This record gives sequence, structure tokens and C-alpha cells, in this order.
Amino acid sequence: MAPTANPVTTKYEAVIGLEVHVQLLTRSKIFCGCPNVFGSAPNTNVCPVCLGMPGSLPVLNHQAVEFAVKASQALNLVVNERSIFARKNYFYPDLPKGYQISQFDKPLAEHGYIDVTAADGQPKRIGITRLHMEEDAGKSMHEGFADSDTKTYVDLNRTGTPLAEIVSEPEISTPDEAFEYLTKLKEIILYTGVSDCNMEEGSLRCDANVSIRLRGETKLGTKVEVKNVNSFRFVRQALEYEIERQTEVLESGGQIQQETRLYNPGEGRTYSMRSKERAHDYRYFPEPDLLPLIVDEARQKAIRATLPELPEAKRQRLVAEYGLSAGDAATLTATQSRADLFESEAKKAKSPKRLANILLSELQGRLKALNLEWEDSPVTIAGARLSADLLETGAISSKILKELYDHAFEQKVDFPAIYEKEKPQQISDTGALEKMIDEVIAASPKQVEQYRAGKTTMIGFFVGQVMKASQGKANPATLNELLKKKLK
Ligand code: ADP
Ligand code: MG
Ligand code: ZN
Repeated sequence: MAPTANPVTTKYEAVIGLEVHVQLLTRSKIFCGCPNVFGSAPNTNVCPVCLGMPGSLPVLNHQAVEFAVKASQALNLVVNERSIFARKNYFYPDLPKGYQISQFDKPLAEHGYIDVTAADGQPKRIGITRLHMEEDAGKSMHEGFADSDTKTYVDLNRTGTPLAEIVSEPEISTPDEAFEYLTKLKEIILYTGVSDCNMEEGSLRCDANVSIRLRGETKLGTKVEVKNVNSFRFVRQALEYEIERQTEVLESGGQIQQETRLYNPGEGRTYSMRSKERAHDYRYFPEPDLLPLIVDEARQKAIRATLPELPEAKRQRLVAEYGLSAGDAATLTATQSRADLFESEAKKAKSPKRLANILLSELQGRLKALNLEWEDSPVTIAGARLSADLLETGAISSKILKELYDHAFEQKVDFPAIYEKEKPQQISDTGALEKMIDEVIAASPKQVEQYRAGKTTMIGFFVGQVMKASQGKANPATLNELLKKKLK
């Protein structure tokens, strides 16, 4: 949220805590052998265990444990050697057992964090209270059937999908911080490979809790939970709306009701769904059909050894190794495959920094306009490396580079191909260049004087003038050499 001079808004401050559910990419479900896949025909990936038939028994999927531990470690959580599964009891049509197996007072992992940037530009650490394992419920289908006006159908394929629930401390202060927290969380989880974090398919879901209080107050205000908002942008919008709504309620002398609300992105507002049931209504008790989960130090260590380099570490390394700015490093590491593509070519590039610049300007800009990922670019990263090398050695000017990129994108061919085809007729003939240089020098006595008085950065001015005169065709290397000689 941008700092605002609105006296009502500055009178209050927001407190936000996020609960994120991440589906784990195991082959089978968490307590049975049913396939864990999206998009099958309804009720085809089910068995007595996930249907909750009496007498069936859950068997814990150890791949799910490994993935949850991996996610915990990546999010700086401390993994408990011993954690306990519990039954969370409630009635809902998509939950045939009448309870969800989750973890309650002894979760898998606790005390993690994600660093974000606060409104004042300073780094801020957001605590992660816990990560616990649980099973997903099924899905109610309210639409898409001839009799949907009178009936709701239930698809239980999703029942028993392994989930990691990641709960933040109520330490997020603005919708922007919430957005960044979620973006980083998703990035980190994607790097670990334990989930595809696909929000459209529901493999990452977010509930946002928000309250407001008088600035400086230490007690928490009454919170509202906004459920199942299906994009990070909508989470930010829903929070902005809620903060305003709650402010208005308090300002008009009312009280905030503890409740669950739903966000309607079309209208940009939240609606009350139900008043919040209290935790003890779930009648939690330890799951009698499962042993305590033991993840000893040796197992934790073995799992940690499989963690890849994480985004933050990668960013810092790129800054140190290639002299990139923090912002450029962030863009280059937004996904792991993008980072890998950059690094494999940066290693071969004459100037990795120049390669980064070209990727972020020439390539990224054009791809964004076409809504394409790096992986789908007509100009490959290897092709971009050639362009960077040509620019670096002065074989082409940046003006020509731009034109070649335009043509490569128009014709959907890679950079080396377009370069071969249109290899610019550069003016390397010293005679012709000298003539142009002489003209520029004669026309710019002031600049010549400055240059000779020691302002050597003026060379850029002369290069620019001759480039202009040559319509970008002067060979930059030859031009530089000649210019220096003539200006002496
Ligand atoms: P519940 O039992 O209602 O699920 P929890 O204590 O488990 O509540 O907290 C759920 C989430 O709500 C956490 O992310 C937590 O940080 C956040 N939260 C708790 N109290 C508040 C509050 N007063 N304002 C904003 N967020 C809160
Ligand atoms: Mg909760
Ligand atoms: Zn099953």
C-alpha cells in the first residue's frame, strides 16, 4: 500500500496473516495408493481409504513427508523430529470421512521466515509459524450440469491429495507485503520442485486473515478471514478492500465481526460467507490409526542435501559473480529454468553483464508484449549470447542490434540466422570513417575543447554523432580507435 496522507487510514494500521495450502506433487495420495493427478473424470481416482469406508486404514506416503520436509527447510523452518497427525472433525459433503487428517498441536515444522521489503524500503522478516501436513478434501461442483440449478455434485478425486499448509505470523503490515510474501513463497516452493503451485488448478491456495487496530496499539484487532482468493493480485485487492471496509466500520462506531468472507474479483469487494466457527468446534484429537511421524536428524540431513540453490542465494551469487544489479538478478532468477538458461550462456559470454542487459531489454520487452516465456522465444538465449558478443566486440552497434532483434521477432527466427542473412554492411573503411569524424570534429569545437581539457567521457558524444552520420553503420571498434587518435 502506498504511503498515504489520508488521516483516517494513518490512524489505523493493518495486521495480516496468510495461510497457504500447497498440493504436493507425489505420484499417489497421502494415505492410499490412488493416483494424485488433476483433470481425471470425476470419482475415478478413489478407493475405500480416501472414500472413508469403515474399516479402511491410512498408510502414510513417505514421498509426501520428504516433500513437506524439503519445503520446510527451504522456508527456514525447524523440522520437528516427532510430529502427530490429528483428526479435525467437521461435516461437509466433500469430506466423506467426516474428518480431515491434519496436524494440530505437534506440526511437522515451526519457526520459519520469508524476507520481504517493507514500505520504507527496508528489509523485513515475516515469521512463518508452522508448516503442517494434511489431506485435501474433495470438490463440490455447483455448475456445469443440466440440473445444476437444483443439485450439487461431488467429485472425490482430490480427496486425500497431500497438502502442506504454511501459516504465517500476523506480521504482514500491507497488501504489498502480502503480495511479495506470496510471490517469494511460490518461487521458493517452485525451486524445490515439491509442487507446481498452479493456482488455476488449485495446487496453491491462499486464505488471507486481516484486522486493523489503532496505530501503536499492541493488542490484535478482530480478524476477518478472506477465503480462497485465486490469484496473488486478487489477494492484494481483497486486502485493500477489507482494510478500507474495516476502517469505515470502526470510524462509524461499529465493531468488526469475526467472520469468513469471500472476494468477488468482478465487483472488487468481499462478502460475508459465515461467522467463524471456533477452533474447538473441530474436536481435534490424535489420529488413532497413524503412528507419530518421526523424521530424525539423519533423514533431515539427507533431504536437505537434495535442496537446490534457492532463489535468494542464487540472486546474491549472480550479483557477486556477474556484477548484476539486484533488480536484474531478481528478474533473471524469477524461475529456475530461466536462471539456468541465463547461467549456461553467461558462462560462455564475453560479457555476462552485457548478456543480462540484452536479455532484460531486447528480449524480455518483446516477449512480454507477445505474452511469451523465455522458453518459447524465437531468439534463444544462446542466440542472444551471440548478439551480446557481437555488441561487446564492436562488430555491431546497438542500433543495428535493435533492428536485428526486430527482424528476428518479425520472421520468428533465431539471432544467428538473422545475423547471417542481414549481416550489416558495416563501414570499416578507415578513409570513409575519417571523413565523417573530421566533419563532426569541425562542427563541435566546444566539445573538442572539453575533451582535450580532460573530460574523456565526451568520447560518447563523438561516437554518437558519427554513428548518426553513418546511420548506425560505422564499425564501433574502428570508430573508437580513430576518434581517440584524432582527438588527441
Ligand atoms: P484460526 O484458529 O482462526 O485459524 P490462527 O490463530 O490459526 O486462527 O491464525 C490463522 C492465521 O491468521 C495466521 O496466519 C495468523 O497469523 C493470522 N491471524 C491471527 N490473528 C490475527 C489477527 N488478529 N489479525 C490478522 N491476522 C491474524
Ligand atoms: Mg487456522
Ligand atoms: Zn484412495
